Amino acid sequence: MNITGQLQSIWNELPAGVRLVAVSKLHPTEMILEAYKAGQKIFGENKAQELAKKYEDLPKDIEWHFIGHLQTNKIKYIIPFVAMIHSIDSEKLLLEVNKNAQKAGRKVNVLLQIHIAKEETKYGFSPEECLDLLNSGVHKTLDAVCIRGLMGMATFTEDMTAVRSEFNMLSSFFKKLKQDFFSSAPDFNELSIGMSEDYHEAIAAGSTLVRIGSKIFGERQYYS
Ligand SMILES: *Cc1c(COP(=O)(O)O)cnc(C)c1O
Repeated sequence: MNITGQLQSIWNELPAGVRLVAVSKLHPTEMILEAYKAGQKIFGENKAQELAKKYEDLPKDIEWHFIGHLQTNKIKYIIPFVAMIHSIDSEKLLLEVNKNAQKAGRKVNVLLQIHIAKEETKYGFSPEECLDLLNSGVHKTLDAVCIRGLMGMATFTEDMTAVRSEFNMLSSFFKKLKQDFFSSAPDFNELSIGMSEDYHEAIAAGSTLVRIGSKIFGERQYYS
């Protein structure tokens, strides 16, 4: 099926309140433009310079989400326009994004990335580290970032029982944080879980943002 057809079949499956982030990393602007013309307005990228280049080249009403590990020295490339950073994985990064956003005169939406997978290699706070951060209260002193919720990636496995349990764990943690730390912040309302292979499970667990790439655009290839 083509990009437009894939998008339509995914849109039809999304319940109200769940938004699609079309993950366009490594795909050329022509493919993004095709999805845009079909009506998709939110796109996700995981490399700062690649995102900055695509921002330049593509329509300005695209809502760009950053979903990859962000090095502090790359924040400057995306801070002028990024709509949401899903992948805040350390206190240092949170503080630096705040500082950069302040300088740019913006308030930037961010999600805290929580490590829920079994793999060692995935970035993110452990639930304990996240609690330490919020208990310290440092986030309340940051006026150029808005913490909108949590992001997570399940273990890469075909064992959907394991995937469901990781998503449910994150969803409960999200509700607990909402109650304990964000009860007066209605904006803390986003749970970014679910990719091409597991977005049905993620939606069942309460996802509000699914990040889908290969199911829309096919296999990723490097291009220059
Ligand atoms: C690449 C990527 C996705 C999309 O993965 P697909 O399996 O292609 O849907 C989602 N989230 C993150 C963080 C990614 O890096």
